[in-house]
Amino acid sequence: MAEIERETMEYDVVIVGAGPAGLSAAIRLKQLDADLEVVVLEKGSEVGAHILSGAVLDPCGLDALIPDWKEKGAPLNTEVKEDNFYMLGEAGEIRVPNLPMPPLMNNHGNYIVSMGNVCRWMAEQAEELGVEIFPGMSCSELVYGDKGEVKGVVAGVFGLEEDGSYGPNTEPGMELHGKYVFLSEGVRGSLSKEVIAKYDLQAGKDVQKYGVGMKEIWEIDPAKHKEGTVTHTMGWPLNSNAGGGSFIYHLENNQVYVGFVVHLNYKNPHLYPYMEFQRFKHHPMVAELLKGGKRVAYGARAITEGGYQSMPKLVAPGVALLGCSAGMVNVPRIKGNHNAMLSGKSAAEAAYAAIQTDRSGDELSEYETAVRDGDIGKDLKKVRNVKPMWSKWGLMPSLALGGLDMWTNTLFGLSLFGTLKHGKNDAESTEEASKHKEIDYPKPDGVLSFDRLTNVSFAATNHEESQPCHLRLADPNLPISTNLPKFNEPAQRYCPAGVYEVVEKDGKPEFVVNFQNCVHCKTCDIKDPSQNITWTTPQGGDGPNYPNM
Ligand SMILES: Cc1cc2nc3c(=O)[nH]c(=O)nc-3n(C[C@H](O)[C@H](O)[C@H](O)COP(=O)(O)OP(=O)(O)OC[C@H]3O[C@@H](n4cnc5c(N)ncnc54)[C@H](O)[C@@H]3O)c2cc1C
Repeated sequence: MAEIERETMEYDVVIVGAGPAGLSAAIRLKQLDADLEVVVLEKGSEVGAHILSGAVLDPCGLDALIPDWKEKGAPLNTEVKEDNFYMLGEAGEIRVPNLPMPPLMNNHGNYIVSMGNVCRWMAEQAEELGVEIFPGMSCSELVYGDKGEVKGVVAGVFGLEEDGSYGPNTEPGMELHGKYVFLSEGVRGSLSKEVIAKYDLQAGKDVQKYGVGMKEIWEIDPAKHKEGTVTHTMGWPLNSNAGGGSFIYHLENNQVYVGFVVHLNYKNPHLYPYMEFQRFKHHPMVAELLKGGKRVAYGARAITEGGYQSMPKLVAPGVALLGCSAGMVNVPRIKGNHNAMLSGKSAAEAAYAAIQTDRSGDELSEYETAVRDGDIGKDLKKVRNVKPMWSKWGLMPSLALGGLDMWTNTLFGLSLFGTLKHGKNDAESTEEASKHKEIDYPKPDGVLSFDRLTNVSFAATNHEESQPCHLRLADPNLPISTNLPKFNEPAQRYCPAGVYEVVEKDGKPEFVVNFQNCVHCKTCDIKDPSQNITWTTPQGGDGPNYPNM
C-alpha cells in the first residue's frame, strides 16, 4: 500500500480526551504560559457527549485549578444537603448511620452535577485562554519518534471502507505532534492500553480492576424530589453474586440520577449486570421514588476500581497518563473527577517546567512524583484495601473491616493489613458456566424497567454503518468455538448496550456484533474471558450523545 500522506501540526502539548483530566491540563498549561500551543482532541460529537459520571463532585480539584469557579459561573448548582446509605434486602432496607463512617465518606461540601455540563463549561474556560479544542476527532493511532518516544497522535480518520482499507472517500486524518502527549482518555483508553503495554508500565503494580456503571436520568414527581439528596445502597439484588451497589442523586429540575455499578470480577458468567440494574429499580424504596416519573436518558461506562496499588507507572518517553487512563477513582467514595482534575493540573505543571528548560519527548517524572506523593496518592492510599477486602471476603466483612481500615488510615496513616492485593484480573475471574446456576431475571415492565435496546435508544448513540467494526475480534471463531460452550458467551449479557448476540443461522449458532449500539463503555475489552475483543476508536463524532449526564 502506498505511504499515507498526512498533514502535520506541531504543538507544545497534545491532549487526547476532553474529560475533566484533559481539560484541566489544558487550562493549567495556558494559565502558566499563554503562549504555549495546546490542543485537545475529543472523539465525542461535542465536549460532554461521552461523559457519564454520576456525579457527586468533590470540588477540591476545581478549587485548585480555578479558585473563582463560582464567580465564573461553573455549573455546580446543587450542594449536597442530605447523605444516606442503605443496606437493601429484597423487600426492605436498613439505614446505615453516618456516624461510624470515616469523614472521607461524608458528602457535605460536595455538589451534585452533570459532569457533561461541567466539562462543557471547562471547555469554554480553556477556549477563552486560547486552547484549541477539536471535538469529533478520534485519536486512533500513536505516532512514535526516532528514539522510541511518543511524539504525537493520528486523529480525524474518516470514511474508511468496511474492511478497514482506504477508499475513494477516505480522509486520512492529521498527525498532531507535541513536545509531550497527554493521554486523558478515561477508563481503559485504547491508546493508553497500547502505551501501558509497549512501555510495560504495569510492571511491579497490581492488576487494574473495573466495574460497569449504568445510569438513567429520571424526571420524578416534584413532591418526591429532594434537591441535594444523595443516597447509596448496597446488598440486594446483587448479594453474593457480585460486588457493587447503587447511587441515587437528586439534582435540579426534579431530575434524579439513578445509577448502578457491578464489579466486573464476578465469577458467574450467567450474571447480567444490566438486568441487575433493572431489577434494582423494583425495590420498594426505589420504585416508590420513581413511580409516576419518566426515564429521560440512559448510558453506561466502565469505572476503574484498582486504585492506589493498580495505578501503572504514569510516564514514558514523551507521554503521560492522566485521570482514569491511569485509574484514579477512590472506590468507596465512587469519585474520580477530583483526582482527574488534580492529575491534569500536575501534568501541566510538569510539562510547563520541562518545556521552560527546552526538554521534550522525555519522561515527566516530576508528574509521577506529584501524583504519588501529593493529594491524589494520599486520597487513594487511605482506601486501598476496601476493594480487595470486598473481593476476598464479601460485602459484610469488608464493610466492617474496610471501615476500620479507613479509620486507622485516616487517624494514624497506617493499615493493619498493609496493602492487600486484588488477585486475578476481571477477565480471569470469570468461571465456567457449568459451575454456576443460571439466573432468572424478571421481564422489564416498561414502566420502571426497560429492555436493553429500548434503553439504548435513550443514549442517542450512533455509528456510521459503512465504517469498519471498531470492536475487533482477534479470532472471529472463538466466541462460538470457546466462549459459548465454556462461558455461555457472556458478552451477550455483560454488554450494557446489547452489542453482542448469539443468533441461530442455518441451525448453527452465530456471533453477531451490532457495533452501532456501542456506548463506548469498554466493558467488552475488560471482561471477555478470552480477551479476544479489542475496543478501538470508531470515527470521530460517533457514539453516544449524552445530554446532561
Ligand atoms: C457510573 C459512574 C459513576 C461515577 N460517579 C462519580 C461521581 O459521582 N463522582 C466522581 O467524582 N466520579 C465518578 N465517577 C468516576 C469518573 O467518571 C471518572 O473518575 C472521571 O470521568 C475520570 O475523568 P477522565 O477525564 O480521566 O476521563 P473521562 O471523564 O472518561 O473523559 C475521557 C474523555 O476522553 C475521550 N476520549 C477517550 N479516548 C479518546 C480517543 N482515543 N480520542 C479522542 N477522545 C477520546 C472520551 O470521549 C471522554 O470525553 C463515576 C464513574 C462512573 C462510570
